[in-house]
Amino acid sequence: MKITDVTVQCYAWPRPRPISNGKYTYATVRLNLVRVYTDEGLYGVGWAGGPGLSAPMTIALVEHFKEALIGEDPFNYRRIWENMWLPKVVGRRGLTTWIISAVDIALWDLMGKALGKPVHKLLGGFRDRIPTYVAGGYYEEGKGLRELAQEMEENLELGARAVKMKIGGVEINQDVERVRVVRETIGPDVKLMVDANNAYVAYQAVEIARKMEPYDVFWFEEPVAPDDYEGHARVARSSSIPVATGENEYTRYGFRDLIQHGSASILNADAQILGGITEFMNVASLAAAHDLHVAPHGAQEVHIHLVAAIPNGLILEFYRETVNPLHGQIFEESLTLDDDGCVSVPQTPGLGMEPNWEVLEPYRVA
Ligand SMILES: [Mg+2]
Repeated sequence: MKITDVTVQCYAWPRPRPISNGKYTYATVRLNLVRVYTDEGLYGVGWAGGPGLSAPMTIALVEHFKEALIGEDPFNYRRIWENMWLPKVVGRRGLTTWIISAVDIALWDLMGKALGKPVHKLLGGFRDRIPTYVAGGYYEEGKGLRELAQEMEENLELGARAVKMKIGGVEINQDVERVRVVRETIGPDVKLMVDANNAYVAYQAVEIARKMEPYDVFWFEEPVAPDDYEGHARVARSSSIPVATGENEYTRYGFRDLIQHGSASILNADAQILGGITEFMNVASLAAAHDLHVAPHGAQEVHIHLVAAIPNGLILEFYRETVNPLHGQIFEESLTLDDDGCVSVPQTPGLGMEPNWEVLEPYRVA
């Protein structure tokens, strides 16, 4: 089998109201769908999202990487990865790595389709059902404590047994009050994660971590800047709340440094960002060698296969329509929570996620 073409289609759709975390505000959802075609009529789909990835940049980068792909056998995925990543040419981190990721995800979808197996089986099946947490708790205009509590009640009605909320967008004591209200709303038995999206420097993160300790926080995500490995470690040492991080980390080398600094107990690796499924598996093995858990960031349709495939997979992040207004419509199949907060792993070939091209068409920008 040989790769004959690589294409990309870019989409963007607005949110009803912008949502904010501790550092950024998002008014638009972006999705870029990369397709890798072969001479046997099969294609694989990979996707890259994120507000930073504009259509012109995506198209230019896909065009750049084509040379490493055309004529290759998609099963030579490691050689393809190395040829795309050659660091002297396009950079070792950042948006180029996002596009490498999208191509690599498409290759795995393609290999699964070619073999008639779901991706989690190709990677080494470990489990068929995955615990999830519903991510949300953003700041929005007109959203007070009552509305935040309402959102969490809806999550529980959906079956959530774990929820995540944002912190870092208001004064520390106000955020502690938000955390208190959410804990009161969800009761003692539902897990609660908090996510600062790099909003603090270390001494501020230590202050809020200590103030949140009475509310049984399961993890404190991205307390400080992604490159501040020592700051992460300081926060981890200063509080009983475990630190989770990694959604802005790249490749096995970035995770090596993160791990060596003792920065986190839980790694939020993201195959869409760090270098695709191939590199995610390298990171997961590195984490396993340090007895660290992996709880991937976002991209639930891809990550469900990866948590299913690794023994140190902890939990899957689940975005509902509060985060992505087209949730449940982007793909022909959509993941839904069972009443115990778990999702079942797709058993169809590849990723088992064919985009709903017609639903997406009105939002196409390139
Ligand atoms: Mg996060």
